[in-house]
Amino acid sequence: MNPLPTIDQALCTGCRRCVEICPTRALDQKAGKAFMRFPDLCTYCTVCEDICPTNAIALPFLIVLAPGLQTTKTTH
Ligand code: SF4
Ligand code: SF4
Repeated sequence: MNPLPTIDQALCTGCRRCVEICPTRALDQKAGKAFMRFPDLCTYCTVCEDICPTNAIALPFLIVLAPGLQTTKTTH
């Protein structure tokens, strides 16, 4: 399973900015708090993290390997 953005419910003010900006509509809101409704749709684009005014959204496990830097198997 891919890592997903986490939304800190204590920090979320329900401003809906993340819900409205998410390009794949993966986010939704329930009881005034944002949550990940469709995890399969999330492309990990980080837009929601950038726009959240209270830093409620975190993508803590993002690791990007640049092409060409991937290790290859070696024999010993
Ligand atoms: S942008 Fe942040 S504060 Fe606003 S609804 Fe989304 S998680 Fe909550
Ligand atoms: S990382 Fe991108 S695709 Fe995933 S929930 Fe946030 S805005 Fe939507």
